[in-house]
Amino acid sequence: MRFSGLRILKEGLTGNKGWAPHWRDPEPKAEYDAIIIGGGGHGLSTAYYLAKNHGMTNIAVLEKGYIGGGNVGRNTTVVRANYYLPGNQEFYSHSLKLWEGLEQELNYNAMMSQRGVINLFHSDGQRNAFVRRGNAMHAQGDDAILLDQDALRDLLPYLDYDNTRFPIYGGLLHPRGGTARHDAVAWGYARGADQRGVDIIQNCEVTGIDIEGGIVKGVQTTRGAIKAKKVGIVTAGRSGQVAAMAGMRLPIESHILQAFVTEGLKPCIDHVISFGMGHFYISQSDKGGLVFGGDLDFYASYAQRGNLPMMEHVMEAGMTLMPMIGKARVLRSWGGIMDMTPDGSPIIDKTETTGLFIDCGWCYGGFKAVPASGYAFAHLIAKEEPHETARGFRLDRFRDGYGLMDEEGTGSQHNLH
Ligand SMILES: Cc1cc2nc3c(=O)[nH]c(=O)nc-3n(C[C@H](O)[C@H](O)[C@H](O)COP(=O)(O)OP(=O)(O)OC[C@H]3O[C@@H](n4cnc5c(N)ncnc54)[C@H](O)[C@@H]3O)c2cc1C
Repeated sequence: MRFSGLRILKEGLTGNKGWAPHWRDPEPKAEYDAIIIGGGGHGLSTAYYLAKNHGMTNIAVLEKGYIGGGNVGRNTTVVRANYYLPGNQEFYSHSLKLWEGLEQELNYNAMMSQRGVINLFHSDGQRNAFVRRGNAMHAQGDDAILLDQDALRDLLPYLDYDNTRFPIYGGLLHPRGGTARHDAVAWGYARGADQRGVDIIQNCEVTGIDIEGGIVKGVQTTRGAIKAKKVGIVTAGRSGQVAAMAGMRLPIESHILQAFVTEGLKPCIDHVISFGMGHFYISQSDKGGLVFGGDLDFYASYAQRGNLPMMEHVMEAGMTLMPMIGKARVLRSWGGIMDMTPDGSPIIDKTETTGLFIDCGWCYGGFKAVPASGYAFAHLIAKEEPHETARGFRLDRFRDGYGLMDEEGTGSQHNLH
């Protein structure tokens, strides 16, 4: 089933009776060549690229809930390639290029909107840091434009420039950054994988990983045992729990990140804007809601909901930056479980168990990574060697300290995120 203008017209005129489900609902087979645990963005894109790039089609994605119910459907949809450190830079640059062709690739409307991401700076020191970041982005082949206060006033007239505790000096604009419809990305990858023969099995929780003599043999699930030659763990906030089934203790803490959306308003915010002196970033959805978020709730948890102190903190930061939003009514808030690594960079690696692979540690920035993570993880699973864009994402950097990619500048200590 392909989407086209003609098809939509035809279906519209004939009662929309011709649409089929976007993916099948198969029973699990007794054995697969590979099993992907976790039907989030990263798991589904891994399955898609395993089938498409490596011809592995006898595979299953096992999802304990429903597709899109995890972080892939809970994030604030920001997509960008403005990382600073080697290792991350080339990876996120690759990801943005994949995003730019994704809708054509999947024949699915992911509502990719390259509206520009603007990081504000509020001091000379912060300006210097963003100049360096912008230069690094240019060197990588991505785009960045330094805006002074006058240029910013033209672009974002509604910010509070004059009467605020943290005066705005300017911003770094990343024009190719923007937003994409998060759950459509999951559905698009799910459909593309299914069309290539991948079994997407929802309501199937993995409860154990079978290992014999250091070699993975399959998994135990709520729908029975399933054998597999290769198993990939892609369970984001639940990575620590699932890896423990294979006897692993990961350098990951799971924390809650909240997001908020207001009632629909007329278009007023054209970009993604990020405050530089507090935790607040904002964009406007196609339905008109202001979508915004801030920092982690500061305690480890597996609950998919946050608490009031962080909500207050985010609202305060928003009001400092653009007092006008105080008039908007918040409609919803929600939380997701973030898989935080000590250095703020991810892990895509083999494990000490032969045939068992892991992709995790996406912290609060894994949505933008969905295409490149699936691409690189599929490469690792199929070829058993890292993809060139993900060589730095090694698990052992947390054991020996070599190769840490401290993008956050917080050192290798969890509680400083
Ligand atoms: C509020 C919020 C805002 C965010 N904003 C952004 C943003 O603007 N930009 C950005 O780049 N990133 C953002 N992120 C981060 C991003 O959403 C995550 O890093 C990314 O989605 C994680 O990967 P995933 O999609 O595979 O995770 P998930 O969708 O969580 O997928 C993991 C899946 O594994 C399943 N699972 C877990 N355990 C098992 C088991 N035992 N058996 C079977 N299945 C299992 C889960 O049910 C889940 O569906 C945000 C996150 C949140 C919560």
